[in-house]
Amino acid sequence: MILKGKPVASSILDKVKEGVEGLGFQPGLAIVRVGNDPASEIYVGKKLKRASETGINGKEFHLPADSPEKELLSLVDELNQDKGIHGMIVQLPLPAHMRADAVLQRISPEKDVDGLHPENLGRLFSGSPRFVPATPQGIMELLSYYETEIEGRNAVVVGRSSMVGKPVSALLLNANATVEICHSRTKELAAHTHRADVLVVAVGKPRFITEDMVREGATVVDVGINRTEGKLVGDVDFEPLKGKARITPVPGGVGPLTVACLMRNVLMAAQEKK
Ligand code: NDP
Repeated sequence: MILKGKPVASSILDKVKEGVEGLGFQPGLAIVRVGNDPASEIYVGKKLKRASETGINGKEFHLPADSPEKELLSLVDELNQDKGIHGMIVQLPLPAHMRADAVLQRISPEKDVDGLHPENLGRLFSGSPRFVPATPQGIMELLSYYETEIEGRNAVVVGRSSMVGKPVSALLLNANATVEICHSRTKELAAHTHRADVLVVAVGKPRFITEDMVREGATVVDVGINRTEGKLVGDVDFEPLKGKARITPVPGGVGPLTVACLMRNVLMAAQEKK
């Protein structure tokens, strides 16, 4: 069974649009992009498009790749003070001379719609989340939409980034799954992935999880986006698994949900200021 993200994303976006209409003012989303990473340019374009479709005022702030870090920090300070901006994103990755941690910590936690400020990540891990990073939030929405049992089930997450692996593990744990987190030092990865009722893969390696690593009937969420041979493929070998597991496609799986959940976070930020 193929778990498509589009219908889930559309229903979230419809609700965001409705929520924005009910606000009485237009929420503002600032997206800061540094340099010319082509993938970032595409992602920012998608975010701005969804923002405009849902009634959010999305604005891009673009700095040249060789800007000093302090210039980026002062832009973040300015946007923190700007009352017309309710949510702020600094698009990652940043150029190598900039410290992503320092920049993310500078964003006001009340405007941190990417949910990557330590305060928001801490709230998530303590079980009282505010802004949850959009991709993990989208994964949980997708699992719920396709009526996936989570409580008491074995969930295995491959990847431990702050943007995907760690927060999705926290959400699965909060939903009462038994969670294992695997990473590059995990030994005998297949022994872990085989135990998964729910397998979430966020590694960034094309077709890394092969058919023999997945149990029949498991639910597989493929977060990976890899550009190979001129097309996008996930971290999971989709073709042999689509008849054996419940699996998200790439593209068209988690991707659309990420942007939809980000818009929902912007609405939430604006509602808090109402
Ligand atoms: P990171 O590079 O930050 O993290 C990758 C993780 O994979 C690390 O924890 C790493 O382990 C682990 N890993 C690497 N090699 C192995 C291995 N051989 N065995 C087990 N684990 C391994 O990536 P992200 O989490 O940011 O992104 C992952 C993928 O998801 C990328 O393809 C990215 O493009 C995509 N993505 C998609 C989104 C969407 O909207 N669909 C949103 C965000 C990301 P270690 O920590 O030990 O190094």
